[in-house]
Amino acid sequence: MPRTDFVLLHAPSVYDFRSESILYGPVSDLVPSTPVFEMYPIGFTTIAEYLERHGFRVRVVNLAVRMLREERFDPETMIRNLNPAAFGIDLHWLPHAQGALEVASLIKKHHPDTPVIFGGFSSTYFHRELLAYPQVDFVVRGDSTEEPMRQLLTVLREGGDLSTVDNLTWRDPDGQVRVNRLAAPPETLDHVLLDYSYVVRSVARYRDLASTIPFKHWLDYPITAALTCRGCTYGCKTCGGSATAFQQLHGRSQPAYRSPQDLAQDLRSISRFSRGPVFVLGDIRQAGMAYAEEFLDAIKGFSNQVILELFEPASREFLQRVGSSLPRWTLEVSPETHDDEVRLAFGRPYKIADMERTMADALEAGCERLDVFFMIGLPKQTYDSVMGTVDYCAHLLKTYNRDGDTRLIPFISPLAPFLDPGSEVFENPAAHGYRFFHRTLEEHRRALVQPSWKYVLNYETQWMNRDQIVDSTYEAGLRLNRLKMEAGMVSAEVGEATEKRILKARRLVAQIDDIMTIGDEGRRAKLLRALKPQVDSANISTVCDKRELDLPLAGIKLNIPAAASLFLRSAWQRLSGNGRKAA
Ligand code: SF4
Repeated sequence: MPRTDFVLLHAPSVYDFRSESILYGPVSDLVPSTPVFEMYPIGFTTIAEYLERHGFRVRVVNLAVRMLREERFDPETMIRNLNPAAFGIDLHWLPHAQGALEVASLIKKHHPDTPVIFGGFSSTYFHRELLAYPQVDFVVRGDSTEEPMRQLLTVLREGGDLSTVDNLTWRDPDGQVRVNRLAAPPETLDHVLLDYSYVVRSVARYRDLASTIPFKHWLDYPITAALTCRGCTYGCKTCGGSATAFQQLHGRSQPAYRSPQDLAQDLRSISRFSRGPVFVLGDIRQAGMAYAEEFLDAIKGFSNQVILELFEPASREFLQRVGSSLPRWTLEVSPETHDDEVRLAFGRPYKIADMERTMADALEAGCERLDVFFMIGLPKQTYDSVMGTVDYCAHLLKTYNRDGDTRLIPFISPLAPFLDPGSEVFENPAAHGYRFFHRTLEEHRRALVQPSWKYVLNYETQWMNRDQIVDSTYEAGLRLNRLKMEAGMVSAEVGEATEKRILKARRLVAQIDDIMTIGDEGRRAKLLRALKPQVDSANISTVCDKRELDLPLAGIKLNIPAAASLFLRSAWQRLSGNGRKAA
């Protein structure tokens, strides 16, 4: 096996998820991951590729996906057998707080002298607190850690002064926590390569596809993501990726955009090995209409399915422009609520009437599918308002899904399990009508092993307490599921199975509430353990069937010979010094 300098490990949200009895709730119904959040951040591939371009050998190991897919896979044995010069762990999304720290402990148990480096948004937010854990040696802060990580690995390999490494939080020899300067973040995304060629190369080099798969059913549904930018110009109140959060956490005053030509090239490169859909992350209009048009020109005629998202209503002309460029496109919009006042309080100041016009125009312009997302747990949102949103979904289905047309698909789910640290609501809860149960990293870590998602939730609002957030979620899920059955969008068999799961999850929440009133800890633990088989069966696809998210894919989905040739070409470019420009 080739020498490896750096292993990037992705942990499950809760390390012992295979033995713990935890009713996760609908926390991941609307993302490709399971509640274990096995999908690693896209930054893993950009960091790995950048470091490789600068002379380091990097391996990505998705422990979470291996633990999910292989009952007998022992993560501790794998960690023991890895022997790189340093380990990296992502704590990007806060739900990984427990799993990431457990994995770090296992590394220290077997490799006490090997540095353990944390990175990601949550690591950046909690960088000082992370250094209080003995299993964490370094935190690399910021939204673009490719270059700081290169600096750190260089100092670790060749010696040097740690205080010169940008964005680093570390302990000096006296045990004092040192916080280095936060370098200005890159103004563009020209320094990274986002076409997954690193992943293909890594699979070939380590002969290990199993550890590189991004999420559990990826081989059946190889969706990939392309990134338009880092940063955001919007200010949604609960989002840790908003403009203000980027400014405060990462020192970013405006987004760094991928050039439209490079973005189109990323999609074309992906299509050489995958026939799955490509999700273009970030509204392509954020950098202005000229950017959007340049991208649509460059991608014209692209044959894979492309998923675009809109952060606000769009003009009819724009949607027709999309329709004329992309033969197969899906649109995602997130009005979050039917109620304009609630949406305004959330930080999206547009009217539902304008978004509905956009939906109608998108359908007319030929989108293959239109996913419409609504959320629970918003400021000013009451239980009745949530039910009003479901009534609005009924209106949408009645108005647009007629004559066998089922392209418009509404979804509803809670903001769960955590509102993001760094978001406006997290920073100033009272001003927005929120109360938080967990504030510190340690409090979130402990919350993650609570027996039901009601206790894991880190917030409630002055309009809905935790019980009401849970109740309204299940009730909204039941009602929306019935609407979809009536509209012929899900079969009776699938719809009835979803209904049964929701009712079962509701019963389990009540049962767990009862058990939690028992004072005897041993008895409580025993009763919770006894519930595990039922809890496990209610954990996937709670408020909708997760497969509703997937676009239909026919035939061969991965093109293995093309992936091999992509690998050979990138190897040749590297050998001939013809690789992509370094930053
Ligand atoms: S939720 Fe709002 S603030 Fe966050 S990334 Fe999306 S548009 Fe930007």
